[in-house]
Amino acid sequence: MTKFVIWFLFATVFSTITAVAQGKTENLFLITIDGLRWNEVFTGAERKLLNKDRGGVDDTIGVQEKFWRDSASARRKALMPFFWTTLIKEGVVYGNRNLGSEAIVTNEIRISYPGYAEILTGSVQPEITTNEKKQIQEVTILEFLKSELQLSDVKVAAFTSWDLYPYAVSRKPGAVYCNAGYTPVNDGRLTQRQSFLNVIQDEIPKQWSNVRYDALTFHHGMEFIKKNKPRVFYFAFGETDDWAHDKRYDHVLEAAHRVDNYLKEIWQFVSSDPQYAGKTSFIITADHGRGSSDTENWTNHGREIPGSEYIWVAVFGPDSQKKGELSQTSMVHAKDIPATMAKLFGLNFRMVAPGCGQTIPLATY
Ligand SMILES: [Zn+2]
Repeated sequence: MTKFVIWFLFATVFSTITAVAQGKTENLFLITIDGLRWNEVFTGAERKLLNKDRGGVDDTIGVQEKFWRDSASARRKALMPFFWTTLIKEGVVYGNRNLGSEAIVTNEIRISYPGYAEILTGSVQPEITTNEKKQIQEVTILEFLKSELQLSDVKVAAFTSWDLYPYAVSRKPGAVYCNAGYTPVNDGRLTQRQSFLNVIQDEIPKQWSNVRYDALTFHHGMEFIKKNKPRVFYFAFGETDDWAHDKRYDHVLEAAHRVDNYLKEIWQFVSSDPQYAGKTSFIITADHGRGSSDTENWTNHGREIPGSEYIWVAVFGPDSQKKGELSQTSMVHAKDIPATMAKLFGLNFRMVAPGCGQTIPLATY
């Protein structure tokens, strides 16, 4: 055999290992909404929590007017109108247990960092058992995509409400651009809007020292997106979890409703920009569930709280089947997300993470 033939055979075999079928995805948004229960996503506000006693609701009449409807389908549209009227037509959502579709985190700890570690590395990280700031040890999907797609520093970025994320997005600190918590944005010459957001986030009184309000994360993130046009972008919203821990169901609902509006703004921008329109996929999920509204367990989650393992996973975009809300599916896991993200780009994450989860069935190719 000539050298050329040997090279050709090698290249052919190798490319079938590293690459999978290429779809239309050229950009990807991963969006997490911390600890937002499947119950609220699929059935809207829960009656048992729309009160002062169990839900810690302040203005019960106002909240009921805004979020209570008689049917589950009307309630979820009141809570997340953009998700349930527009986005849902663009892909699939797993996790409605009432319809025989379940999505879970595989890790048994069922708190935030172990959940995000699973979402980002595709496997349970045994050394991450708390929310302590500890650098992740395994390659993340963000690092993998940055390297495989040969992207420069601003083309892969994470904007997150929780300040732990610089430890979670890459093995080496700073290897993936990450603006987290109340850290000011610094991505070169700042726009007027970026400078203003830096000032305002510094000056406002803060509910939590380590979790930035989602509004600041969102508007900072959008400005970064418009300025730098990242190919891979991660938005991690946090208020849904922290308001629940604070036993404020009214604020949980408002936070979920705001994030729905952020999804709308992102979608509208993406649809109007030539780099993104028709070439951008979205994966939207949560890092854990939480307990039942039958007790005060709804405020919490963890190994000891039944129900904390249940999440939901939505995949929207040009390479998703347009089947909307799914029923009677096989189980989907948080650890399946990186392989799915890689596949959307025609790549195989298993190459660098042999123990990672499966790809979520969704592709039209
Ligand atoms: Zn969490």
